[in-house]
Amino acid sequence: MNRRSFVKNSSLAFGAIPLLRKDWLMKFMQENPYKMRMLRNGVGIFTEKGGTIAYYLSKKNIAVVDAEFPEQSKHLIDALQKDPGKPFEILINTHHHGDHTSGNISFKGIVNHVAAHSNSLLNQQRVAKEQNKEDQQLYPDITYGERWAYNKLKEKINTFYFGPAHTNGDSIIHFPHANIAHLGDLVFNRRWAFVDRSAGASVKNWIVVLDKVQQTFDKDTLFVFGHAFDPVKVTGYKDDVKAMQDYLSSLLDFVGKQIKAGKTRDEILKTGSIPGVTEWQGDGIERGLQAAYEELIEGVI
Ligand SMILES: [Zn+2]
Ligand SMILES: [Zn+2]
Repeated sequence: MNRRSFVKNSSLAFGAIPLLRKDWLMKFMQENPYKMRMLRNGVGIFTEKGGTIAYYLSKKNIAVVDAEFPEQSKHLIDALQKDPGKPFEILINTHHHGDHTSGNISFKGIVNHVAAHSNSLLNQQRVAKEQNKEDQQLYPDITYGERWAYNKLKEKINTFYFGPAHTNGDSIIHFPHANIAHLGDLVFNRRWAFVDRSAGASVKNWIVVLDKVQQTFDKDTLFVFGHAFDPVKVTGYKDDVKAMQDYLSSLLDFVGKQIKAGKTRDEILKTGSIPGVTEWQGDGIERGLQAAYEELIEGVI
């Protein structure tokens, strides 16, 4: 190792650069702890760290979809409780991942119900047991299957489940009066997606699920996305759902062709781009490549 790379590596090892970055981040976070934006008809979104939260403020009570992390959900609760006397009626999880459910715990004792697809609950329990974090969970007391409706608020909430995609427990939460649908992590808007095969994900079926999303909702439906490369673009319309579907189709097609051409797993994972996918960015292109590879190889065997 030459001296220059030694100095560079030691400063990294001693954390000088991460520390500076941490200071900057702390300052940034203090000034911008979270962002809340009303969309329409009492439905708004909250973003800070993790999967986008949606909330519905009726005259009498509040419904919340997803909970980010414990600190973030406390920020949301504090902000929504500035309007005193409005209880939290229901919290619905789009799926089990920690950036959507670990904030559930902040609602303990203050929300009447927590709901999710039955597979989301099973996944949440399994992961919490594996990580020895069961005491940090607030599990759903209501689980549902393909379709479910909640009628105890001023306006109805509908849920839809179309099968395995990002996990095997992704449901869509629709506020029909506002025509807003929270898609959870079914759309990573213009950002490389995580495909959780350990929780029953399927790239092939994800493409089918996004077809059903486009058939079920209309051109005016405003979608909320779990994640986006540009933090402002966590909402969108059918075009964005179609773009996500096209990315997954190109991913599957490309990996299939690479396998047929005799490429190894490592060669495929090193790919820096996917033909036909021009708008997707960020870290983690390999996560989708690996998932598609494993899924296709499994299918062949
Ligand atoms: Zn997420
Ligand atoms: Zn997720």
